[in-house]
This record gives sequence, structure tokens and C-alpha cells, in this order.
Amino acid sequence: TDAVVLEGVSKTYQLGDQPVAALGGVSMRLPRGSYTAVMGPSGSGKSTLMNLVGCLDTPTSGRVVVDGQDVAALSDRERTRLRGREIGFVFQTFNLMPRLTAAENVALPMVFQGVSAAERELRARQLLDRVGLAERANHRPRELSGGQRQRVAIARALANDPALLLADEPTGNLDSATGRAIMSQFADLHRAGNTVLVVTHERPIAEHADRIVHLLDGELERVETIDEPRRPH
Ligand code: ADP
Ligand code: ADP
Repeated sequence: TDAVVLEGVSKTYQLGDQPVAALGGVSMRLPRGSYTAVMGPSGSGKSTLMNLVGCLDTPTSGRVVVDGQDVAALSDRERTRLRGREIGFVFQTFNLMPRLTAAENVALPMVFQGVSAAERELRARQLLDRVGLAERANHRPRELSGGQRQRVAIARALANDPALLLADEPTGNLDSATGRAIMSQFADLHRAGNTVLVVTHERPIAEHADRIVHLLDGELERVETIDEPRRPH
């Protein structure tokens, strides 16, 4: 079965009395265990697509089906549960809680999944270690650089070992060594059978995926298959 199915998905935002068409009739499938990159110029609908797949928003028309469930048919509460259980999301703006330390931010999704405090603490530190931030575990976001915040956001997205990992420009602010380390985390998750969807402007990053979906003006321009994804070592 598919992790995600989009059927004729359109999204129109209302900007004052002006409708803005962000997506116009996009259909695609993300098979379980697939690794997909999304590319396209600024304004082509990439973030809108991610927000729909991530159950943060619902389409104006068409259907978004995540883990077999039509997202629009779920209550807010059910949608939040689905998100917490299935989806790890790395936002462009990181969305970290300013009053919590890096470790507490990473542990937060585990609180909602009922993981014990001791286990959360241990796992948060392991995740921070994996993204190379062990020594910053007790820092608050404002004490961290942009790239460090991004790594906290990635560690948090991995907290519940999500079946579906969504990342919007995950390497955008990072130096190339850190960027490679992050992509190798994603490759690990993919190898472990998880479904990965990554938005990127960088062609070499996109080539880690099995296929690249190209968006243009809110439409699916073409899908490119990558024969030999360049997996990081
Ligand atoms: P991308 O991520 O590819 O840059 P977006 O999905 O952010 O594209 O945006 C697609 C289109 O929708 C753009 O024209 C953008 O200005 C518009 N848009 C996105 N979000 C909103 C919003 N909340 N309100 C109004 N227009 C929006
Ligand atoms: P960037 O410009 O790359 O975002 P910053 O100039 O914000 O980086 O930070 C550089 C380094 O200083 C980082 O390693 C960050 O963790 C550390 N740092 C920044 N602000 C603080 C602070 N208030 N307390 C402790 N360390 C800090």
C-alpha cells in the first residue's frame, strides 16, 4: 500500500478578497519505503504540498490520503494523533519552543506518545548525539546558531521514529559537512523502511532520493526517476 496518495489536489489561499492558487490538481503516490525529493522554483507550491501531506492543512479540492486515511475526513484531534504517530516534520522555520532546551524540544513529541521521562531523556540525548549536538543539549534555541537549531529540529522530527519523514529545505542553512550528516540520517531512515519526502533547491541533495517530483506553477511538471541514488556514506 501507499504511505501517501494525492488525488487531484488543489489548494487556493484567500489573500484578502484575492484567491491565490498554490496547487492545481496534483496527483501522486508515495509508496511505503520510497524516498522522494520535490524541486521547483520559489512559489511553485512545494511548501503547500508538504503542509498537506503533513496533515497541517486540508486541500480546497481533491483528496489527501495518509496511511489509508482521508485527512479531510478526520477531526482535528484525529489529525493531530495521526501526525504525532506517523509523521516527523522538519519545518523551514524549525518551530522550536524558545523556553525549552534542545533536549526538551527533542523530547516533546515523545511526551505526547506517552514515553517515560527517563526514556525520553535518554533518547533525546542519543538523537542530539546523532546530529552532532550532544554538547548543546542544555542550550535554549536562542543560544544556538541557525544551523544548530535546524539540527535540533531534525532530531525532534526523528523522535518518534516516524513512518513518514517530511523535510522542507533540511540542509538550507547548513555547511556541507553537516548537510551530508543530515542526509545520511535520512538515508538511514529510508534504509530502515521509512518513507521520506524532502523539498530542496539543491540538485545533489535531491539525487539522494529514488525520484524527483518537479513542480511548476502549482502543477506536477514531471517525475524523474533516479537510477542510482547517490547515498551518502
Ligand atoms: P514554494 O514552497 O514552492 O515556494 P508555496 O507553497 O509556499 O511555494 O506557495 C505557493 C503559492 O501560494 C505562492 O504563490 C504563495 O505566494 C502562495 N501562498 C502560500 N501560502 C500562502 C498563504 N498562507 N496565503 C496566501 N498565499 C499563500
Ligand atoms: P550563526 O551566525 O552561524 O547562526 P551564531 O553567531 O548565532 O551563529 O553563533 C555562533 C556560535 O555561538 C554557535 O556555536 C552558538 O551555539 C554560540 N552561541 C550563540 N549565542 C550564544 C549564547 N547566547 N550562549 C551560548 N552560546 C551561544
